[in-house]
Amino acid sequence: MTEQPRWIAGVDIGGTNLRVGLVPFDGGVPVAVRQERTIPERGPAHVVARIVDMLRSAVGEVGWGTVAGVGVGCPGPVDRGAGVVLETPNLGWRNVPLRDLIAEATGLPVTLDNDANCAAYGEWWQGAGRGAERLIGLTLGTGIGGGIVLGGEIYHGASDAAGEVGHMSVDFDGRLCACGSRGCVEAYASGPGIAARAVEGLGGAAGSGLAEIARNGSGRVTARRVCEEAAAGDAYAVRILAETGRILAVAVANLINLFNPDVIVIAGGVTAAGDHLFGPLRDEVRRRAFPSAIGACRVVPAQLPDTAGMIGAAGVFKGVVYDGV
Ligand SMILES: [Zn+2]
Repeated sequence: MTEQPRWIAGVDIGGTNLRVGLVPFDGGVPVAVRQERTIPERGPAHVVARIVDMLRSAVGEVGWGTVAGVGVGCPGPVDRGAGVVLETPNLGWRNVPLRDLIAEATGLPVTLDNDANCAAYGEWWQGAGRGAERLIGLTLGTGIGGGIVLGGEIYHGASDAAGEVGHMSVDFDGRLCACGSRGCVEAYASGPGIAARAVEGLGGAAGSGLAEIARNGSGRVTARRVCEEAAAGDAYAVRILAETGRILAVAVANLINLFNPDVIVIAGGVTAAGDHLFGPLRDEVRRRAFPSAIGACRVVPAQLPDTAGMIGAAGVFKGVVYDGV
């Protein structure tokens, strides 16, 4: 029997950044980490060529014979069986045979999964949800990504489209979402959703630092600025984050009632808001979900803020190739 390989390459393709790193075969801190801007407007061939360069450079650092293969996480619905990215609004890709492109260029076996699934799997394998039997992950960013891990496996559904937690509606006649539906939690609690709600309420927010930013043109009101102002004690910003927590709680309470999970892991920059977000979120969940289910479920911030996707993509490779998942 051949020696067990020491590393699995993880690739996290984001709308803003590409991350590549080598994850220890049995988990641990990634090495040879590479990060570059994605520059999606230059097209898939350009992005794939740069991912391959990053992989060659990283694998060269530890030696080709020590790397088992490559796990890739990519936004948008994917066809895992065919290894094809079907559509990514963030990147502008359609029907890109990503798995085979990377496999042919590197000579390594490759697996492909959705990036939010990989992030949830990373938190289950190595992060805040380690050892949980039933985990649901949410990543609050430009959108809201979601992933469901049951019994150590990602739940993919009938056509690899499961886990779209961000498009769970919290208001049937509510805000229009990028997906075409209405009232999706993503339209309220993603970065742009938080910023939009903050801007809309500025008329009643005299004295807020956010009103000042909007008035003097010193910058845009963003979710990050909302968090910063809240940390500095700005009452309006605190109120926006509390409302964000309550809106998220509607989705979280639905997930708790539906799945009765052990843990819900929430990732993304806005989790830096800490108790300003999680306090109202947990209070509202208690008002909405079944007590026996709440008692069994931890709602916690993620532990792998930048690396969950990369680590999870490597974990997915290991599960598919070595554990037959
Ligand atoms: Zn939606």
